[in-house]
Amino acid sequence: MGGLILGALGLAILWGRGHFWWGLLAFFPAHAALLWAGLVPACQWLGRVVTSFRVSDGERFVWLTIDDGPEPGETEAVLDLLRAHRARATFFVIGQKAARHPHLIRRILAEGHLLGNHTQSHPEKWFWTLPGKRVARELDECTGTLLQITGSTPEIFRSPVGMKPPSLTPLLNTRGLTLVGWTVRGFDGVSQPLGRVLQRLKTGARPGAILLLHEGRGHAPALLAEFLPWLDQEGYQCIIPEPTRWLPADGIPAVGC
Ligand SMILES: [Zn+2]
Repeated sequence: MGGLILGALGLAILWGRGHFWWGLLAFFPAHAALLWAGLVPACQWLGRVVTSFRVSDGERFVWLTIDDGPEPGETEAVLDLLRAHRARATFFVIGQKAARHPHLIRRILAEGHLLGNHTQSHPEKWFWTLPGKRVARELDECTGTLLQITGSTPEIFRSPVGMKPPSLTPLLNTRGLTLVGWTVRGFDGVSQPLGRVLQRLKTGARPGAILLLHEGRGHAPALLAEFLPWLDQEGYQCIIPEPTRWLPADGIPAVGC
């Protein structure tokens, strides 16, 4: 973030001093960097993104995260499967859906899972281009919806498709929200054969990994019905790691991608 601000400042100085052509030359890389930082989910240039968590020797913990619910007809089956496998998960829910199905939100909490903010309306195509006011509204309305249903506010946020508008980090900071990304995703948010999704998740799973799945496409129960037994068999345990374990992008310093 600091680098980007410095870049913008340098650009303003160049233009201010009449070096128009040098300024123009710097304009495109500066904006390309901003675009890159906003669109690459694990990029830390615009602020910290948690992409894994710390485990001690011998701990085979993973953090299962499920986005885009709650989804009636799907969330119930997902919760039944999680209970059968003694797995805990984090549900990054969409505020508008939560408002329509508050009983599912209450059941998620009652069964020991965690809720995260995934915006009020999930504007997935243009989230990274939204002005600060609109981003703030997406954050606050989702938090308000969850507060109304549960009596408490979420402490974690996941961006739609992992995108980060430049205003996001300061807005999250002032609201005490931490941006949580993922270590591995099965790309089940777009249409994919389930076998390939499952293979991606199995290949990427490792102790300390954040695993990303989606609800709302009808396949979450079928996917978990195969994935949870595999995790059991491999000795993995699905937990919700405490914040002291959270780590920014793996092996990548906070100022790089
Ligand atoms: Zn989403």
